Amino acid sequence: MTRQPLIIYNTLSRQKELFRPLTEGRVGMYVCGPTVYGDAHLGHARPAITFDLLFRYLLHQGYRVRYVRNITDVGHLEHDADEGEDKIQKKARLEELEPMEVAQLYTNRFEEAMKALNCLPPSIEPRATGHIIEQEQLVSEILRNGYAYESHGSVYFDVEKYAKEHRYGILSGRTLENAKDASRELAGVDEKRNQADFALWKKAQPQHIMRWPSPWSEGFPGWHCECTAMGRKYLGSHFDIHGGGMDLVFPHHECEIAQAVASQGSEMVRYWMHNNMITIEGRKMGKSYNNFITLPQFFTGEHPLLQQAYSPMTIRFFILQAHYRSTVDFSNDALQAAEKGYARLMDAWRKLLRLTEGQRVKGQPVVEMAWVDELRQKLYDAMNDDLNSPIVLQLLFDASRTINLLADRKLGVTPEVAEALKGLFSTFIFDILGLQEDTAQGNKEREQAFASVVDMVLRQRQRAKEQKDWMLSDSIRSELSELGFEVKDTKDGFSWTLNK
Ligand code: ZN
Repeated sequence: MTRQPLIIYNTLSRQKELFRPLTEGRVGMYVCGPTVYGDAHLGHARPAITFDLLFRYLLHQGYRVRYVRNITDVGHLEHDADEGEDKIQKKARLEELEPMEVAQLYTNRFEEAMKALNCLPPSIEPRATGHIIEQEQLVSEILRNGYAYESHGSVYFDVEKYAKEHRYGILSGRTLENAKDASRELAGVDEKRNQADFALWKKAQPQHIMRWPSPWSEGFPGWHCECTAMGRKYLGSHFDIHGGGMDLVFPHHECEIAQAVASQGSEMVRYWMHNNMITIEGRKMGKSYNNFITLPQFFTGEHPLLQQAYSPMTIRFFILQAHYRSTVDFSNDALQAAEKGYARLMDAWRKLLRLTEGQRVKGQPVVEMAWVDELRQKLYDAMNDDLNSPIVLQLLFDASRTINLLADRKLGVTPEVAEALKGLFSTFIFDILGLQEDTAQGNKEREQAFASVVDMVLRQRQRAKEQKDWMLSDSIRSELSELGFEVKDTKDGFSWTLNK
């Protein structure tokens, strides 16, 4: 197929741009992954699904994509202000586990949730703890170039010096002044020259378990280092796309740009892409609101805010229903609407599968190939306009109405057109949007069908009894019993159980 121009919004230029990879036919893409000290929540599902949509679409367009998503297993993201304790370490202490055991446990659980959401695994999932040397090299380069300083065994990025020569705030639009105010890094306040400076290397306190030797001290790297170091290692010093949630624009990605420029003299990333956030009933997700709902809780319904369980495909559909740069507000109503929408779409797909051998009936208006071609073009246009998944879903819904008319034989179609429509639906629903048949829903339907068949057989047996055909009624009963069914005759007919 010929590739059509893909337009994406670049956070750096603050406008939509034509996507042109640095190397023809290949794309390097880096997405900030989870910090593995707890279960992934709804906020993790959004970047995972957003960049899965991009990954899938680029693959569909015939690109060779190297998709790197890191695992932050040094929990230095947020220190507890009063204790200065690393999150993974704290969790390990509370759960009496080795820190790497905690990281592995939640990595496994994250992968399980991603699989349930039908997110394709990235090409590489590097761990921060496996790349300490690369991070130390990055720190050394920045020190050598004069954009960092050592203080009491820790190393800090000299934001003020950098900002004199380069544009600190180029991504987030912040000035040095409001960057200072926004700096959440409370630790090391007395070691830093300026409030806005951020840690490249931290000397470990005596009680700190996760520590590595370095030229400066036994310690651990600053959080922003890992993505710059691992992005460069696996995608090269210049690569195409860096993505993540909007909450990472500042300070994380702003600091990554500064680190890249300070170490290699140029920016590393061509296109910065950010998904918007999810609010829960109008509020930001936050500890103080007690509204973090983890993905496993969604799948089981076990959270006080949830009225029911929501399947992974309902969650995926819910997220795809909004454009990735718009906010999404979670509520039970919104998820129940998504559940219905998803069911309606899959219903149309199954009806489409059952359209066999053409339904061209004399006198009926016919769905033409031109209609399918036009639908195809509109679907690609929507994807090419900054991954507009809500428009894609809307177009598929509109087309579902035509499928319903076909299923009701109010419209006719030739086998060729029916095949083309099936191919188009399959490409967009499964390959690009990454939806799939809900196994829970599928199992329920299979179980219902199974029960109806057993009921049907037992009704035949009753009829045989009414006609005094004892041989037939006995043989049905004994064959069912051999298969493990226990059949009981009751006042109103029969009941059965399966003893297996
Ligand atoms: Zn990152």
